[in-house]
Amino acid sequence: MTTCKAYGACEAHADLTPMHIERRALRADDVAIAIDYCGICHSDAHAVNNDWGSTVYPCVPGHEIVGHVTAVGPQVTRHKVGDRVAVGCMVDSCQDCPSCDDGHEQNCSKGLTATYNGKDRHTGALTHGGYSEGIVVREKFVLRVPDALDMKFAGPLLCAGITVWTPLRRHGVGKGSKVAVIGLGGLGHMAVKLAVALGAEVTVITTSAGKADDARALGAADVLLSKDPKAMQAAANRFDFILDTIPTKHNVNPYLMLLGRDGVLVLVGALEPLEPIHGALLVMNNRSISGSLIGGLPATQELLDFCAEHNVLPNCEMVDVRDINSAFQRMQANDVKYRFVIDMASLRETAVG
Ligand code: NAP
Ligand code: ZN
Repeated sequence: MTTCKAYGACEAHADLTPMHIERRALRADDVAIAIDYCGICHSDAHAVNNDWGSTVYPCVPGHEIVGHVTAVGPQVTRHKVGDRVAVGCMVDSCQDCPSCDDGHEQNCSKGLTATYNGKDRHTGALTHGGYSEGIVVREKFVLRVPDALDMKFAGPLLCAGITVWTPLRRHGVGKGSKVAVIGLGGLGHMAVKLAVALGAEVTVITTSAGKADDARALGAADVLLSKDPKAMQAAANRFDFILDTIPTKHNVNPYLMLLGRDGVLVLVGALEPLEPIHGALLVMNNRSISGSLIGGLPATQELLDFCAEHNVLPNCEMVDVRDINSAFQRMQANDVKYRFVIDMASLRETAVG
């Protein structure tokens, strides 16, 4: 076991504070990683606040992890000391079910092991995430960061990026697709960039009139203000594919109305009951609504390689770990452009009592 510095919350809605956590001794197929950067996802705030009713404290969040390998177990073949690597939202799965066999480990029939607030499959110990100096992860769940990808910008691809990449790919978004992205935040801005890179025509649907210029700079062809009923009405039946990243309970009916024939709305943001859906909006135009959870290991590696090749990078605001609580507040107040990333050098400089 090694002790390392981390930031975590000891109860719901509490500030994150510096603390020490233990990382396990290397198992045969483990990789030890020194963390250089970690993105801040809205899910980290949901977890700290126990919004989903499942948080165990202390909670050390962080699942957009980028770093370099410092040690490997004797059976590790895919990574070596010094390699640039990344870890996303899961650190293990059963590896013995149809989903794991198909590279959809996020849908493991026995349940994935989450990077934080999960239970280690061997010991049952609580897992701790990337707001820390280091982490030990089974090699299968460690991704390679291509040389062409700047480490500072790689982190948000591990959750925000893969969560939107998976449904874009599953639904064949590409040249000729008319796509709308609801919510221009961490996930939303990656969805815009990736859908544009795949050749789609993208519209941003936002509550924030002030984000219109940014949306266009990110590659959107059009911007719709969701609070403007006339503009929403005028966009009826316009889209093939809508990605809904709104983080809380909301009414999807005004968005369903925007789908054309056989259109699909994919929900990724609100993991909670929604306002009732009007059946007629699904029946008319053969519309459907579906959901999507992060993405599997092969798709995540595919995304990292795609972003390196096409230079698709998140817009990051780097933060010192000592400013983590104000970053959380700003994220929850919709004041981030468009992903906070913690520079973990600041944690190494921080004295932890
Ligand atoms: P974020 O950076 O805070 O962005 C969310 C955006 O949604 C905001 O920028 C805002 O955009 C819009 N929004 C916020 N509150 C709203 C409201 N009440 N009504 C309408 N729009 C609202 O969050 P994120 O990191 O992108 O995460 C988004 C959600 O996805 C979170 O709930 C997170 O837990 C979830 N998530 C799911 C998965 C998955 O696997 N399915 C993975 C990662 C995250 P505008 O200003 O443009 O309106
Ligand atoms: Zn996330």
